[in-house]
Amino acid sequence: MSAAIVIGAGPAGLASAACLSRRGIDVRIVEQAADVGSAWRSHYDRLHLHTVKSHSALPGLAFPAEAPKYPSRLEVVAYLEAYARHHRLAPEFGQRVIEVLPAGEGWRVLTTGGIDAHAPAVVVATGANRVPRMPSFQGREAFRGRVIHSRDYHNPQPFAGQRVLVVGMGNTGAEIALDLAGQGTAVTVSVRSPLNIVRRDIFGRPTQLTSIMLDRLPPRIGDAIAKFSRNLTIGDLGRWGIVTSDQSPLRQLRLEGRTPVIDIGTVAAIRRGEILVRPGIERFDADGVVFTDGRAERFDTVLMATGFEPAVQAMFPATRLPLDAGGLPLETIGRDEREGLAFVGFDIRQAGGLLRTIATQAETVAQALASRRTVAASRPLH
Ligand SMILES: Cc1cc2nc3c(=O)[nH]c(=O)nc-3n(C[C@H](O)[C@H](O)[C@H](O)COP(=O)(O)OP(=O)(O)OC[C@H]3O[C@@H](n4cnc5c(N)ncnc54)[C@H](O)[C@@H]3O)c2cc1C
Repeated sequence: MSAAIVIGAGPAGLASAACLSRRGIDVRIVEQAADVGSAWRSHYDRLHLHTVKSHSALPGLAFPAEAPKYPSRLEVVAYLEAYARHHRLAPEFGQRVIEVLPAGEGWRVLTTGGIDAHAPAVVVATGANRVPRMPSFQGREAFRGRVIHSRDYHNPQPFAGQRVLVVGMGNTGAEIALDLAGQGTAVTVSVRSPLNIVRRDIFGRPTQLTSIMLDRLPPRIGDAIAKFSRNLTIGDLGRWGIVTSDQSPLRQLRLEGRTPVIDIGTVAAIRRGEILVRPGIERFDADGVVFTDGRAERFDTVLMATGFEPAVQAMFPATRLPLDAGGLPLETIGRDEREGLAFVGFDIRQAGGLLRTIATQAETVAQALASRRTVAASRPLH
C-alpha cells in the first residue's frame, strides 16, 4: 500500500509527488492521459508562459538556463518531462480516477484502468481546467456554422477566409483572437463585462513580479498603484467597445479569482481595427448571432473561450467538498471528514501566477501530510 496517491500528472501532481517523495513518503501517481503535462501538450501552438521562468518553476528544479524568460508551450512540456525524471516520478498512465471514497482511516481510489487502491492520503491535482464550459444560448441549434471550444483550437490555419466570433476575452480568448487576426482572419470578440487588461512587461519589468510586490502592500495602496499603472499603460478602450473594470486588477483577482488579461498585442490589434469588439450575445440565428446592442452579424465559426469547470465533486460521490461558486475547492488541506485529502492547483486568487502558487502549495501539503500519523506509519522503514 502506498502512503499517498496523487491524482493527475500535470504541474500540481508532479510537484506534490516530488515534495512527498523528498520526505521519504511512498507515492503513487495516477494520470488519465498517456504522458505528463497533458494539458500543455494540447494547448494552442503559439502559447508561451505569461509568467517568468524563475517564478514558474516547481520545487527542486529550475527551468534550464537556455530556456527564454517566458518559455514556450513545448518548453514547458520538456520541463515537466525533465521534472518527472529528475525526481524519479513514474506516473501510471491511462488511469482516470472515477471515484475517491472514504475507507477506514484513509481513502479508496478507483480508476477506469482497474486500479482499486487504498492510501491514508490522497492529493487531488486534476487541474482547475478539467471540463470545457459551454454556455447555452437561445437559437444555438438553428445556427448553420460551427461552434467549438477554445480547447479544440490549435492554430489559425483551419479558419483562413472565415468570419470567426471569439466569445469571451480572458487570456485565452484575447490570444486566440490575436492569432487569428495575425493571419488576416476576420475576427470579432464578444465581451460582456468590464475588463482588467495589463501589459505583460512595463519598461522591461514583468508585471507578474510587480503584482507580487504590490500584493505585499496594504490592499488600499497596492490596489491604487495597480489601477494607476493599468490606466497609464493600457488607457481607455471605450471607443473600441471595451469597458475597463472599476476594480484594480489585483482586487479582482483576490475577490473573484479573475486573472487580468495579460496583453501581448491584442490591444494594439483592437486599436488598429484588426479585431472588432462587440458586447454579449443575445441569441444565435441561422447565420450568426445577435448581440445585446441589437446588432446582427454573420459568422462561420463561433469559438467559445468561456473557460472550464474543475469538476472535482464528481469524483467524490460520498463526500461533500467545500467549493466556491466556480466549483473550486476552498480547502488546500482537508479537515474533519476530509482529513487525509489535499487539493493542489485550485487556488487561482493569488498574485504571481498559478504555477508559483502550486509550488508553494505542494510543499505545504507534503509537510502537512507527512506529519499525519497514518501517513508516517506507512512510510517504508529504510
Ligand atoms: C492556456 C493557459 C495558460 C496558462 N499560463 C500560465 C502561466 O503563464 N503561468 C502560470 O503560473 N499559470 C498558467 N496557467 C495556469 C496553470 O499554471 C496551468 O493550468 C497548469 O497546467 C495547472 O497545473 P495543474 O497540474 O493544476 O493542472 P493540469 O495541468 O490541468 O493537470 C491536471 C492533470 O490531471 C489529469 N486528470 C484530470 N482528471 C483526472 C482524473 N479523473 N484521473 C486522472 N487524471 C486526471 C489531467 O489529465 C492532467 O494531466 C495557464 C493555464 C492555461 C489554461
